[in-house]
Amino acid sequence: MTMIRCISPVDGSVYAERPAMGYEDAKALVDRARKAQKSWARRPLEERVSLVLKGVARLNEMADDVVKELAWQMGRPVRYGGEFKGFNERSNYMAEIAASSLAPIVVESSDRFERYIEREPHGVVFVIAPWNYPYMTAINTVAPALMAGNTVVLKHASQTLLVGERMVRAFVEAGVPEDVFLNIFLDHDTTSKLIAAGSFNFINFTGSVEGGRSIERAAAGTFTGIGLELGGKDPGYVMEDADLDAAVDTLMDGATYNSGQCCCGIERIYVHESLYDAFVEKSVAWVSNYKLGNPLDPETTLGPMANKRFAVTVRGQIDEALAKGAKALVDPKLFPTDDGGAYLAPQILVDVDHSMSIMNEETFGPAVGIMKVKSDAEALDLMNDCKYGLTVSLWTKDPVRAARLGRELETGTVFMNRADYLDPGLCWTGCKETGRGGSLSVIGFHNLTRPKSYHLKKAL
Ligand code: NAP
Repeated sequence: MTMIRCISPVDGSVYAERPAMGYEDAKALVDRARKAQKSWARRPLEERVSLVLKGVARLNEMADDVVKELAWQMGRPVRYGGEFKGFNERSNYMAEIAASSLAPIVVESSDRFERYIEREPHGVVFVIAPWNYPYMTAINTVAPALMAGNTVVLKHASQTLLVGERMVRAFVEAGVPEDVFLNIFLDHDTTSKLIAAGSFNFINFTGSVEGGRSIERAAAGTFTGIGLELGGKDPGYVMEDADLDAAVDTLMDGATYNSGQCCCGIERIYVHESLYDAFVEKSVAWVSNYKLGNPLDPETTLGPMANKRFAVTVRGQIDEALAKGAKALVDPKLFPTDDGGAYLAPQILVDVDHSMSIMNEETFGPAVGIMKVKSDAEALDLMNDCKYGLTVSLWTKDPVRAARLGRELETGTVFMNRADYLDPGLCWTGCKETGRGGSLSVIGFHNLTRPKSYHLKKAL
């Protein structure tokens, strides 16, 4: 029997383990979800929405356990609480817009014809979720998929092994029927086999580019719809008219919060030459205030990375940049708790260029490169010189200029004077190797349902 293990970044111990389900058992579990789907979809929308919100509320009641478990599983400091703000905001917003988003589109209602398009749930939706924001990334699909009348099977990341189990427990305790929302522990091979057998009607995968490729390969020829929310290398661009302090505050937070493990974290920054020196100086001071340590200590503001192997990647990128001529500005002596393993001090690099992986590969850690630019044109070229396209954070007082730049940017979201935030009213989406599809917003509901056309001609 294969065991799936969560190795805690706190101390390297095995925090949790669960047996991976074999193929036949997994198939039987998906069958249960399929059998439950039609009767779930027949329930009135308001009832489904209300049950989902009760599940969300029940999870909130578990906050103390959730926060501690998150610290042990992926290293987020307890002082930041769980992910309830975003988790609740997204669920509530999707609940608010469910009726209008799922309402039929009436083209004609006359004495001759009823012509309209209804939204049908896909059936069984498979959610594969990552560990970095394990509750928020999962809820983006779980809540609207259930509201829309799908049943959901959730496979969570090994690093956050207990999250799927806990979410399902909360929802079932709140009254969501057992087979409507199911957690599953799976290894990669069995996951691929299930997908290749056409077991699901829609798959939402949030994770790495490599993982996304495997899922797409497994689904080839099954015609299963797939939403892929993959990696990023999101830039910030600080223009000469920016509010410098606000830019430093938001961009440094975006680069380092959650130990830099945010899909839409800031991974590279371009600053107009007139503000460059001041921006760098203030950023180094900002980052130097972190207290790196055990995430269970309420004083800790920066926890370990979720796994030693992620820190190895970040350290490798920093070393490579330094070897190529970059300069590291954060004094390591300020972070004596950096253990050379998962506990990694934040870092700011200057004298960087796009030949360095710190500027062209996803870092997913608390290290960021800053480059000086002379013009919008130069910044635009650099921002687009990237294989990913998730978000861009523009800093200026001029919304017309931001919108003009936005039209030239190869990205999923254009922010002005903010960063690293999922607005549930807008579509969460990416381009290039960040993937395709979109969650949240009315478009999220549309992606979790299929259109069905009714063309009814009335007898004379
Ligand atoms: P990951 O290694 O790809 O894992 C993500 C999920 O997919 C986990 O549940 C993982 O299971 C599963 N998985 C990976 N490869 C698989 C395969 N071949 N077959 C079946 N399942 C597979 O990604 P991660 O390291 O957890 O997450 C970090 C990445 O996610 C970063 O690249 C980040 O940018 C991206 N991300 C993107 C968004 C977005 O909205 N665009 C949001 C959050 C994160 P196991 O854990 O069991 O391997």
